[in-house]
Amino acid sequence: MTTPKNINSPHLIDIKSMSKSNIEYLFETTDTLKNTPIKESLKWHQGRSAMALFFENSTRTLTSFQLACQRLGVDCTALNIAHSSTQKGESYKDTIETLNAMQTDLFIVRHPKNHIQQQMVDWNLVNCYDKTTSIINAGDGNNQHPTQGLLDLYTIKQHIKDFSQIKVAIIGDVKHSRVANSLLDGLRIMGTSNIELYGPDSFIPEPAQSLKAKSMQAALTDCDVVIMLRIQKERLDADIKIDFTDWHQHYGLNNDNLKFAKREAIVMHPGPMNRGVEISSEVADGAQSTILEQVKNGVLIRQALIHRLLS
Ligand code: ASP
Repeated sequence: MTTPKNINSPHLIDIKSMSKSNIEYLFETTDTLKNTPIKESLKWHQGRSAMALFFENSTRTLTSFQLACQRLGVDCTALNIAHSSTQKGESYKDTIETLNAMQTDLFIVRHPKNHIQQQMVDWNLVNCYDKTTSIINAGDGNNQHPTQGLLDLYTIKQHIKDFSQIKVAIIGDVKHSRVANSLLDGLRIMGTSNIELYGPDSFIPEPAQSLKAKSMQAALTDCDVVIMLRIQKERLDADIKIDFTDWHQHYGLNNDNLKFAKREAIVMHPGPMNRGVEISSEVADGAQSTILEQVKNGVLIRQALIHRLLS
């Protein structure tokens, strides 16, 4: 198989549109960036500009995209949505076309509505230099969060060499999680078929019910990678009430049930964590946790992606 030398698209909307070799090539670029001093990478894309449009809350993703841009010399403007003209009734398309007219090379977009970034791709945005304006999906509704999926795959690869030989458990609110969707796609592309999901029935999406484990113990047994997910409260119906103590008892990870996984298993969480609900502090801060490593890799993988898209 030949290795493509680019991602084949000026955009990243979902992981499904990437091939295994696209992902591996992105990982190689990430490895290169890891060993490149920032004072060097700063020169790579001087004069280019990006706009981060976050219509939903974010700590890790927004900051890491901003740092990734800065470390490549890309000027990144984060629009303060609360003070933008969308609040004055301007349509989303008019806002985007206005911003695009300012010679933007890249939009990084997070939105509560599914598929909005794909809609932007369909508008065929071209900037003042007659160049396609790239679009990166930084999370759309409960649909996709491709850069989180990629940084998680990259983190797994740091610990486990062969994706086809591992068992992965994804536990918690899988149904409302865009991270789970991107990860499921990404793991399959990389060759992982041994995936088990666990959570209350109504929190496992219908099409993935066949992957549901019989119990927390069954999901964790012999696992190489355990991925814990937060309850996506912002996407639940208002009348759904959750007892967090009860949730922890049945679906939370702690030192007692982590013992069912392999001794060298890694524990991941995309953040933000709710300690004492889906994960105990002892596990979150324990030796098997890769949570801060994921954050660190998040900047690097986004740097690699932006570098590839703008190159
Ligand atoms: N930060 C991730 C997201 O934006 C996960 C989460 O919020 O639970 O989807």
